[in-house]
Amino acid sequence: MRCAEKVPCPCCNHMEYKIIGSRERKLRDESGEFRRFIVRRLRCKQCEKIHHELPDLMVPYKRYGADIIEEAVLSNAHLTVAVDESTLHRWRFWFFDLVDYWLFILQSLLVQLQEHETTAVDLSSRQLPAHERIGQWFGVASG
Ligand SMILES: [Zn+2]
Repeated sequence: MRCAEKVPCPCCNHMEYKIIGSRERKLRDESGEFRRFIVRRLRCKQCEKIHHELPDLMVPYKRYGADIIEEAVLSNAHLTVAVDESTLHRWRFWFFDLVDYWLFILQSLLVQLQEHETTAVDLSSRQLPAHERIGQWFGVASG
């Protein structure tokens, strides 16, 4: 699997990497079957940190696809995949524990890219549900 776009280093914003290998990643889909992917290992040429090039269908450190996890953390979710209750609880706790952090990262990236009026959305407001706050920036469609 290979990314078609150039993505800056999340640590230093440098745009050049050296490909240093690959790693297998397994991802469980809706049917419960594992799908196998080979992702590239990249080393930033400036800060020398190692990164894995993950497609957006994967969530770092999670074995299920991003679409399944998204479905599970939504409050009115009707799951189409069999996941035990403790896994659902852990996903929801993980998501709501980190969502504000991710929103501030997204805000920072948008400021850097200068593609969005950053004053239009108040990220400090915690009155809306998390997915609605994310939707303020990126729309409410799934994915
Ligand atoms: Zn770097």
